[in-house]
Amino acid sequence: MSDYRIVCTNQEPCYLSTHQAHIVAVGTGNDPAQASDRWTLDQVLAAMKRGDRFFTQGIQSGRTAMVEPYECGRCRRTYIRSRPDSVQDNNLDNLRVCNWK
Ligand SMILES: [Zn+2]
Repeated sequence: MSDYRIVCTNQEPCYLSTHQAHIVAVGTGNDPAQASDRWTLDQVLAAMKRGDRFFTQGIQSGRTAMVEPYECGRCRRTYIRSRPDSVQDNNLDNLRVCNWK
């Protein structure tokens, strides 16, 4: 089992609903400015099933938040989100966009 810090995300709208975009890929690593590994959503979900853990850490606040799977009923698919707490900068939806070259 390992812990991975998510430092960036890619989001896409779901084709069934226009309510919001969902995270479809993430980057992990120790440096928030430079992700070292790219994961698709399905790779993250499979790793979570194996017992790996994913988290975010706010750059300003330093606060960590665990990332968990959740079911979007409108898009009929499992996505990931950070557990809500009082700070914004560790919210999975607020991380920068991954820019893979
Ligand atoms: Zn949805």
